[in-house]
Amino acid sequence: MHAKKIKCTVTALSWLSEYVFQLDFKADKKLKFEAGQFISVLARNEIKRAYSFACSPEIAANTGNYSLCVRLVPGGAGSEFLSKLKVGDSFRAMAPYGNFVLHPLARDRGICFICTSTGIAPFRGMAQSDELANGMKRKKRIIFGARAENEILYPGEFEKLGFERKNVLSQEQTEEHFYGRIPNYLASLPNDFAWHDYDYYLCGNPDMIVETLRYLNKSKGVSQTQIHIEYFAAPSKKEAPIAIPAAKPKAA
Ligand SMILES: Cc1cc2nc3c(=O)[nH]c(=O)nc-3n(C[C@H](O)[C@H](O)[C@H](O)COP(=O)(O)OP(=O)(O)OC[C@H]3O[C@@H](n4cnc5c(N)ncnc54)[C@H](O)[C@@H]3O)c2cc1C
Repeated sequence: MHAKKIKCTVTALSWLSEYVFQLDFKADKKLKFEAGQFISVLARNEIKRAYSFACSPEIAANTGNYSLCVRLVPGGAGSEFLSKLKVGDSFRAMAPYGNFVLHPLARDRGICFICTSTGIAPFRGMAQSDELANGMKRKKRIIFGARAENEILYPGEFEKLGFERKNVLSQEQTEEHFYGRIPNYLASLPNDFAWHDYDYYLCGNPDMIVETLRYLNKSKGVSQTQIHIEYFAAPSKKEAPIAIPAAKPKAA
């Protein structure tokens, strides 16, 4: 699929939490993309920033509307530019890009999404896609990490799409959600948890990804071919992340 230059017109901007908003737009050309891919937004006509589609291709094709889920980084060139757009404003972009897409589903395995904050964006598109929403009968899980309850994104949506969801809060203790970090939550799962029975997709905070990757691969022996990752930024730790061989995405 070749990336196209597009002009996008904002149809809605809604705040999902204090710093995260969903931006909906229409494009001047029909965009073909796969769930999990991203758009490259040209902010102020000069700065390029990547944002994952937070909607499925099928929903976009049916409604003509595309969604992004963006965290406002105060002073950030791309996110601040997008956060200030009003309905009817337009911006330029190129899309689609990226290999973080659903890989051919292993017949006997479930799927487990693991993310922090706006790392949920590509998973929303994947979860809504026909392939997962209608075609998959096996176990679907999502583990979502945030600091506090008021940062939980898209509550209830994944559950409606057949996912078992666990929210993991690092800075707030509640009765309902796990208190700690994602690797702590994974370590709390029962001894007989079927680690090998899932394909794992990791997205969001790079340090969470590095730690989770290590836990799954080194501590639980999950094969690297069962783990797919999308970094939104480079990991801060000195040690390089475990190299994951790029599994071949399906033909576009
Ligand atoms: C493939 C891909 C997909 C992505 N998808 C999404 C998405 O769906 N939603 C989304 O919100 N982002 C996504 N990102 C991140 C996005 O591209 C930008 O990096 C992010 O929005 C920050 O850009 P900015 O121009 O606003 O800030 P910048 O101008 O790049 O940064 C301003 C300052 O903030 C710091 N900073 C940058 N990011 C953060 C952060 N997250 N937290 C704290 N400080 C930060 C920088 O180090 C810098 O000092 C994605 C990135 C990639 C590579």
